[in-house]
Parts: sequence; structure tokens; C-alpha cells
Amino acid sequence: MTPAIEIKDLHKHFGKNEVLRGITCTVEAGQVVCVIGPSGSGKSTLLRCVNLLEQPTLGKILVEGVEVTDPDVDIDAVRRRIGMVFQQFNLFPHMTALQNVMVAQRRVLRRGRKEAEKVARDNLERVGVGEKADAYPAQLSGGQQQRVAIARALAMNPDLMLFDEPTSALDPELVGDVLAVMRKLAEEGMTMLVVTHEMGFAREVADRVVFMDGGVVVEDGPPAQVIGDPQHERTRGFLHRVL
Ligand code: ADP
Ligand code: MG
Repeated sequence: MTPAIEIKDLHKHFGKNEVLRGITCTVEAGQVVCVIGPSGSGKSTLLRCVNLLEQPTLGKILVEGVEVTDPDVDIDAVRRRIGMVFQQFNLFPHMTALQNVMVAQRRVLRRGRKEAEKVARDNLERVGVGEKADAYPAQLSGGQQQRVAIARALAMNPDLMLFDEPTSALDPELVGDVLAVMRKLAEEGMTMLVVTHEMGFAREVADRVVFMDGGVVVEDGPPAQVIGDPQHERTRGFLHRVL
């Protein structure tokens, strides 16, 4: 089967700063891969390269077999298959939850109002905020806002989801609700590449954990290995600080 994401020797420079220094990593369809590592190690840049929010300097990225680093690629078509969830929820403040989940469906997928509304309500329900459809972001907790953001991504029927520290901006008591939604998605078979500091989630949900440091992959393996029995000193040091 074609992997969902294949990253081959990816390099990314910002000026003279080489932030990614040869990343190779594969996410198979239906897998959950968690990326962990210290701040500044290049995790967000890696994720952003997958849908070309950042332009890679060197190397290849294939999404479902389509080379996104090919200059002739239809990147909008690729992006439509990728849902992305950020640390900051980026909801439109002047729109209700329902409207937030409808807008890209209408504008990008050209869905009719009725269909977009049904899909929006179904997905708000799916992430446990169905009764908040008519609330504005300011009326919602951070955890509810993030779940609306997840519903917004899901409403586009993505084949895979990228999460960049989706719980890092949340009050601790709200983290669990968002992780529960992500866990459910994983159980439903969604392909997910997740940057997270939630080691419990990574340990229980991930098929593989990738530890990055200084723009390279230091360790890549099942959670029981990378988190439970790390082979590298840098991994051990990092885990020691976060666990
Ligand atoms: P992480 O997500 O692991 O904390 P990032 O990928 O955000 O790491 O950042 C890695 C490095 O790249 C940092 O040194 C950061 O300052 C730098 N960086 C990230 N984005 C940009 C940018 N748009 N322009 C210049 N430098 C950047
Ligand atoms: Mg980051």
C-alpha cells in the first residue's frame, strides 16, 4: 500500500540556519506517529513542510504517492486531503462554531449550504461539542474551541491529519477532552502525524514515536522502545525532563 506520508532526506534552511538536516520518515495509512523533541528541534517546520506551508530546501515529500516537492504539483488538491490542527485554534471570532466548520466546506469544496451544515453538525457532534453549534469562540473554553477546530478539519473529509501541539495552549484540566477526541479518531483508523508533549498519549495511542533533536531524527520506533527503553542519551535526557 502507498504510504500516507513519505519524507526523504528533508532539509530546510531559514537563511543560514539549517533547521531540518536530513529527515527521513514514513507514515503508513492508518498509522498514528507522534513526534516528540525539545523546543526548537524543528518539529513544527517538519509538519509545515508536509503541506508546503514551508518550502523544503532539499529532499522529497510524498503524500499518498504524490510528490508535493515537485514544482508542478497541484498543491491545493493535496492540501484538501490533509487536515491540520494547530496549537492556536485560529477560529474566526465573528463566526459561530457552526459557521466556522461550514466556511471552508462552502468556499473550498463548494458544498451547498444544507450539506455543509449537516456535515458541520455531524462533526461537532463527533467531537463532543454538538450543543455549542451556535456559540461564538469567545463563549467556549479552550478545549471546546480546539474541538471545533478539529471538527472544522474533519468536515473536509481529510485522508490524514497533522496536529501541531494541539493541547499545549490549554489549561491542564481541558487537555483530556481533546486527547480523548484524538484517541477516538485514531481508533477509527485516521492517519495522524502528531507533534505532542503528551507522553501518555504517545505511549498509548502511537504506532511509532519519532524523537527529533537539532533537526534530525534521533530515534524512531514503537513507543515501548523510544519512550520505554530509549537507546540514545539525547532521548533519555529529553524524557527525563518531560516525564
Ligand atoms: P519546534 O516546533 O520543534 O519547537 P520549529 O520548527 O518551530 O521547532 O523551529 C525550529 C527552528 O527554526 C527554530 O530555531 C526557529 O527559530 C526556526 N524557525 C522556524 N520558523 C522560522 C521562520 N519562518 N523563519 C526563520 N526561522 C524559523
Ligand atoms: Mg513547534
